[in-house]
Amino acid sequence: MTADLRGIGMTSQRARDRLVAQIRSMGVGSEQVLELIGTTPRHLFVDEALASRAYENNALPIGLGQTISQPYIVAVMTEALLSRGKIVKALEIGAGCGYQSVILARVAQTVYSVERIGALASKLRIRLHELHVNNVRVRHDDGSLGWDRYAPYDAILVAAAAIGIPSALTDQLAVGGRLVIPVGPPGNQKLMLVTKTASGLEEQILELVRFVPMVDGVT
Ligand code: SAH
Repeated sequence: MTADLRGIGMTSQRARDRLVAQIRSMGVGSEQVLELIGTTPRHLFVDEALASRAYENNALPIGLGQTISQPYIVAVMTEALLSRGKIVKALEIGAGCGYQSVILARVAQTVYSVERIGALASKLRIRLHELHVNNVRVRHDDGSLGWDRYAPYDAILVAAAAIGIPSALTDQLAVGGRLVIPVGPPGNQKLMLVTKTASGLEEQILELVRFVPMVDGVT
């Protein structure tokens, strides 16, 4: 591992272990997920000026009015998606800086990731290349209608808050597949887990959350 990936000082393994302990104490029990958080170099996904804060359990700005999700929430979402076992195809809407994309890439065979802001999508492609992550396909587009071409997905993760649960996304779930999505207006968002069964959809509220809103169109 290079020094960059390993980190030093506030980005060292000790800082990451503290973050993992905190997320565990907040109720995330999956050793697989805790290991993913402990070994994914979050400091490489934020501006250098913010790197020293990368292992604090907070969302941080990534430019263009967007944020890198809070590690605890990334853990909760990943744990919910993994609780049904193996993920072959995962769809991510709102890739942002790609931290969650890389975590998904470590547990899914292929990740299809959509981002509506072109500058973030381009930066992400470069970052994935630098990190030698080659099982994430990035698409610069409005992801509110999913990515029909590679459906059905075993897991769909949405990182921007929607008004309701979009049927376009549940339609793209495999039977047994799961969707995690923040739903609701600013100040009153719930993280929902939707499971598709042979007889329909099952919904569960996981957490109260604060995400940036889902926006239509591309920029
Ligand atoms: N998990 C990401 C979260 C980024 S914030 C990270 O940790 O970096 C949410 C992202 O969703 C933003 O980058 C925003 O541009 C994107 N987004 C919002 N609406 C979208 C849409 N309709 N389609 C695709 N991406 C969208």
